[in-house]
This record gives sequence, structure tokens and C-alpha cells, in this order.
Amino acid sequence: MDNLKGRVALVTGSSRGIGRGIALALAAAGTDVAINYRSRSHEADVVERQIAQLGRRCASIQADVSLPSDVDRLVKSAEDRLGPIAILVNNAGIARPQAIEAITERDWDELMAVNLKSCFLVTQAVLPGMRARRWGRIVNLSSVAAQVGGVVGPHYAASKAGMLGLTHYYASHLAGEGITANAIAPALIETEMVKSNPNAQPTRIPVGRFGAVDEVAEVAVLLARNGYINGQTINVNGGWFMN
Ligand code: NDP
Repeated sequence: MDNLKGRVALVTGSSRGIGRGIALALAAAGTDVAINYRSRSHEADVVERQIAQLGRRCASIQADVSLPSDVDRLVKSAEDRLGPIAILVNNAGIARPQAIEAITERDWDELMAVNLKSCFLVTQAVLPGMRARRWGRIVNLSSVAAQVGGVVGPHYAASKAGMLGLTHYYASHLAGEGITANAIAPALIETEMVKSNPNAQPTRIPVGRFGAVDEVAEVAVLLARNGYINGQTINVNGGWFMN
């Protein structure tokens, strides 16, 4: 198992929810963390203070990860302030539950840009540094929606399935350079995303409850530490989908 102490992580969408949990868990494991948010600066300020209390350095950076210019600024600012990014967690995402017939091309394009294109853009910006140092960990937050369809919409399920394809490509092409890529596929973790979706009910889950953010965060830390898990999708779903 690799020692994470002193390495730098970037967690997109870490002002709240699963991203915040992962940022705090990585800091507790010894990494310095660049956190990112789109609009909720107050929440990000709180996370920044919590990371400082854990004795780690933190840079809080506003950026819309669906925009290439914001992504370039995000990665440059994170590396200028903390040093080279060794661990990338592509977590930022949106989920607006919609009926099939209500989904417009605009809805599709927006969701694909925020959930899937962002994963490509941020990875693209971080990879040259990882390759130069021959060490890196990429963790992508997919979803049970990629596996069973889920409770948001076809555009959301497609974006999350696309993340699995990206993960497989990176995992198979970069492992020889010391870089692993894996996905986490959660289901119904108790965050704003789930609490605001009336279709998300714990009765869908065999264990009979929503998952906790910490139950996802500890898996992200494992994937950051472990250099032999590569190209996998780790399901954190209470048994909704089994493989
Ligand atoms: P939340 O809605 O609770 O939090 C979303 C986070 O993403 C916030 O920090 C938000 O920033 C940020 N964000 C949203 N859009 C952008 C953007 N364009 N640029 C930068 N940051 C952005 O979501 P969850 O914590 O529940 O979900 C996190 C990830 O896990 C998502 O990818 C989601 O699809 C996935 N997931 C979640 C599941 C669940 O049950 N909760 C299940 C399966 C997958 P701000 O605060 O500024 O708005």
C-alpha cells in the first residue's frame, strides 16, 4: 500500500456531498487537497477550514469543470499553490430527474458536459504531470445508473456509463506508466442530490437505507493507496446491483 502523506489530490465538486467526504478522508490520510466548487463558496470555505484543522494544506478553487478555460485555470492554480497533482477524483456532477419525454437536446448537452466531458477535460489537464512523474491515481465517480438505468434519466445514465469507458481506456493505456484509473459506482448516498430526487427511495436498496458519504469516501482512499486495483468499478450501492 502506498503512503499518501504529502501527495496532492484534486477533488472536483468538493464543496459538499460525496466530494467533500472524499476531500476530508484524503486529508485525514495525509494528502494536501485542492477542492473545487461551482457556486457555493461558503460551503467550500468550511471544507477548506476543516482540511486545515486536519493539518493539511488546502486550496479552494471556483471553476465550472464543464468549461475548458476554467479547467485549465483550476489545474494551474491547484498546482501553483500545492504542487503537482498525484490523485485526481472526478466527482463533480449534476442529476436533474426528468421524464423521458421532457428531456431536451439542451438538457442532454448540459448534463453530458458537466458529468462526462468534465472528466475528460480535467484528466487531460492533469495527465501530463502524472506521466512525467510516473505516478498517478484517477478515481471517477460513476453511478449505479450506468449499470441498471437508475432514477434520474437516460442522459444521466449515459453520462455515467461514458465515465466507465473513459476509466477503462485510461486504465489499460496508462498502467505501465504507474497511473491507475478506477471508478466508483454508488447508489443512493444521502446527499442533496438524492434528498432532492423524489424517485430515490431507500426501499430500492437491499440493505434498506441510504448510504453514507463516508462509505464512499473510504473506497476513494483505498483506490488512491492501492496500486494494483486498476480498471475496476467498485460498487457502493447497498446491494442494488451485484456483479
Ligand atoms: P451533490 O449535488 O451533493 O454535490 C455536487 C457537487 O458538485 C457540489 O460540490 C457542486 O458544487 C459540484 N458541481 C456541480 N456542477 C459543477 C460544475 N459544473 N463544476 C464544478 N463543480 C460542480 O452531489 P453528490 O455528492 O450526491 O454526487 C457527487 C458525484 O457522485 C456526482 O458525480 C454524482 O453523479 C455521483 N453519484 C452520486 C450518487 C448519490 O447517491 N448521491 C449516486 C451515484 C453517483 P456547488 O456546491 O458549488 O454547487
